[in-house]
Amino acid sequence: MAVSSIDSAAIEEKCREIREVYLSDTRPWVVGYSGGKDSTCALQLVWTALSALPVAQRTKPIYVISSDTLVETPVIVRYIDVTLARIEKAAHEQRLPFKTQKVVPNVDRSFWVNLIGKGYPAPSRRFRWCTERLKIEPADDFIKGRVAEFGEVVMVLGVRSSESATRAQVMSFHRIKNSPLSRHSSLLNAFVYGPIETFSTDDVWTYLLQNPCPWGNDNRDLVAMYRNAQGECPVVVDKTTPSCGNSRFGCWVCTVVERDRSMENMIDSGEDWLAPLLEFRDLLSETQEPEKKKLYREYRRRSGQVSFKNETDLPVHGPYTMDFCKFLLERLLETQVLVQREAPPGDETLLIHDAELHEIRKIWRSERGDWADSVPQIVKKVLGRDLDWVIEDAVALTAEDANLLGEICAARGVPAQLVVQLLDVERAAHGLKRRHAVHTKIEELFRQEWRGIDAILAERAAKRTAHAVLDEDVEDAYELEGADEPELPLLRAGDSK
Ligand code: SF4
Repeated sequence: MAVSSIDSAAIEEKCREIREVYLSDTRPWVVGYSGGKDSTCALQLVWTALSALPVAQRTKPIYVISSDTLVETPVIVRYIDVTLARIEKAAHEQRLPFKTQKVVPNVDRSFWVNLIGKGYPAPSRRFRWCTERLKIEPADDFIKGRVAEFGEVVMVLGVRSSESATRAQVMSFHRIKNSPLSRHSSLLNAFVYGPIETFSTDDVWTYLLQNPCPWGNDNRDLVAMYRNAQGECPVVVDKTTPSCGNSRFGCWVCTVVERDRSMENMIDSGEDWLAPLLEFRDLLSETQEPEKKKLYREYRRRSGQVSFKNETDLPVHGPYTMDFCKFLLERLLETQVLVQREAPPGDETLLIHDAELHEIRKIWRSERGDWADSVPQIVKKVLGRDLDWVIEDAVALTAEDANLLGEICAARGVPAQLVVQLLDVERAAHGLKRRHAVHTKIEELFRQEWRGIDAILAERAAKRTAHAVLDEDVEDAYELEGADEPELPLLRAGDSK
């Protein structure tokens, strides 16, 4: 370890600053705690600083929030749960104003509801839809709730300038003059305080290893956890926070990184029961390989339109197909069964929650034409049980209806999916008096692309041939007249003006 500039005088000075900021107003604090070294260091410093205050001055509540994406690595879920319980207990015993809170995404924003329900492709660097839904929004909702209660709040974060230059820039851009606080980059009435902003990585480790954890954890466990990990996934408060892939403190499903070395290392070091998780993650990662995308994803986008990459005939792929979503759900539940069977005693790893299964069923039934009602069947097949499924109203359509409709549509050359969706629109509007919205939805459906990819590609090829012939005719005409070609290109049919 390199030499750290943090000595006891520097720590005492930092604690003095923390106490000063804490006592300077009545705004409650919200500490973002991820379980990683930086947020542990920030929380421990705050704890130590406030312990030196008389009890009568420890009046402002301090919420320690930890975001649980519901797809966190199980080992970390347990670590965070144990730690939050210790913080709560120690704070009570030491008469400190800390309260802990896990923040989770709303069920309709969860990873599985988006990926398996709506068919969102596994997140990548270019389409990282997860952070906002799984981390930023839940934390923001909590902060907004406290702002509604108290008027303003101060977020205490373990951010460090040396870790994220972008984050440091944003903080200095929003810095309030002559104050250690910055304005939150997007939330009104929320402020940010970074007590370890100037710390180096060595400072953080030095502090953690030289000062015992006041809520009863052993900071040396953190060193062990970091031994093979490659970073930490901070509590994410806005889009400037870096991606957390490849960190022990990230999601086990993360495909933003090519390989999950952290999980691989955990398995290598004896946590064999996690192997099925890695296999599932690798399956998701495989769907990102360019040559395989067409196997798993629709050629139509979620809007129902088809678009192509630049001038090529390669469609921009849309959501995962329904068949693949069904396959993923089955594999996920099988993975859950395997992991639960092999997990260490007391580790009740739940990969997908019942509320998510209900939501996926709702989406498949209402938006994705799943008349066969596949979710209850898959759950029964893999888990051997029924959930308390909502019984649908009288106009429910079935798998037999879908088969019959498929035959009729095939005989008449009508896209069956279009008819399915038209009927679903009508079904959803059953009994409504005002039908304007229904007509709009029907219109939208007719505007979508319903032809197969072969027909679309044949049309593009035909257009290209027509353009080539037109170009040749124009060239011939100029040759005959002995004129030069015009400098400006001629507009072709279909070119935008
Ligand atoms: S760890 Fe990966 S999957 Fe999870 S929120 Fe961060 S980028 Fe998304």
